[in-house]
Amino acid sequence: MVDLKGQYNKIEKQIDEKVLEVLKSTAYINGPEVHAFQKELEEYLGVKNVIPCANGTDALQIAMMGLGLQPGDEVITADFTFAATVEVIGLLNLTPVLVDVEKDTFNIDINAIKKAITPKTKAIVPVHLYGQCANMDAVLEIAKEHNLFVIEDTAQAIGANYTFKDGSKKKAGTIGNVGTTSFFPSKNLGCYGDGGAIFTDDDDLAHIIRGMVNHGMYKRYYHDVVGVNSRLDSIQAAILRIKLPLLNGYCEARGKAAAYYSNAFASNQNIVTPAISDFTSHVFHQYTLQILNGKRDELHQHLLDNGIPNAIYYPVPLHSQKAYADERYNEADFPVTNELKDTVISLPMHTELEEEQLEFITSTILNFIK
Ligand SMILES: *Cc1c(COP(=O)(O)O)cnc(C)c1O
Repeated sequence: MVDLKGQYNKIEKQIDEKVLEVLKSTAYINGPEVHAFQKELEEYLGVKNVIPCANGTDALQIAMMGLGLQPGDEVITADFTFAATVEVIGLLNLTPVLVDVEKDTFNIDINAIKKAITPKTKAIVPVHLYGQCANMDAVLEIAKEHNLFVIEDTAQAIGANYTFKDGSKKKAGTIGNVGTTSFFPSKNLGCYGDGGAIFTDDDDLAHIIRGMVNHGMYKRYYHDVVGVNSRLDSIQAAILRIKLPLLNGYCEARGKAAAYYSNAFASNQNIVTPAISDFTSHVFHQYTLQILNGKRDELHQHLLDNGIPNAIYYPVPLHSQKAYADERYNEADFPVTNELKDTVISLPMHTELEEEQLEFITSTILNFIK
């Protein structure tokens, strides 16, 4: 699905030198590399505060802790996402409220959010799934009307640009009260281990979160709140400093591969290519098709038989997972996720795809799905 080796080979010398430099510096935790990366990411995103942390799941958890969400508070999020989003809601004893997504963009359905709001609702977590932004004008409007926090899960969409109705633009993850991302190796901006970050323009919230990631300390050995230990290490930060200036190019390379795919499948009645909303760019963390003729599982196997990696993201909607099932859920409220679980298939998507590979992948699919 990804070619981390090919990508590494292109920056090998720079990376190796820098990693050795960090090893020799012995500043392994909270060293100058972490601080420099934080500043550079703030500049890239156009956001006042970046707080690096250990991974994208922690980032979500800490964002919710920082906002002061309390047990019993309801948090609305998408039924069709990676489990980390809902996992942290559960871990904090908040109440997850899963809602359906839009069939064409795979992102959270605005009308479903409106229907799910109760007096206990405290936050909405839009996930910018597969690399394009959810409808943030609409999410912000609902949040304002009901006085809710907005936490953007940007693990799959770092670098995506959002255009508001008034024409102004912001980077994904910098639109709501707080945004989170992951630097897991296969993410669009990946390090060589685990890593994550939290973004916010709110200086007070940033201050709270900076203490929270470090055992709730605002002054050394004075613990004002219950915190966690969640840090980005210096080696990962040094690697990310080399890769951040390449991110826009990485997004372009993914976009080119996506355009090749979409062009190849355009006239096939049984294949739906990803739709891109006009208010967002798409950084194609995943390139995901919908297969309409009931042969998705057969295609999955056929591609594997031909040596073509592919994946089903996600085979079970969260409302149907044992851990997150809840008697309040009604199947009739999830028509889209219940359908997508049987139709979606994600193709190889990374920065090193060559035309020859794309040709092989697309022709293998088109010969199978007529
Ligand atoms: C990867 C991912 C996460 C979690 O990130 P980790 O760094 O693996 O903890 C959270 N949400 C979404 C949507 C993701 O894709």
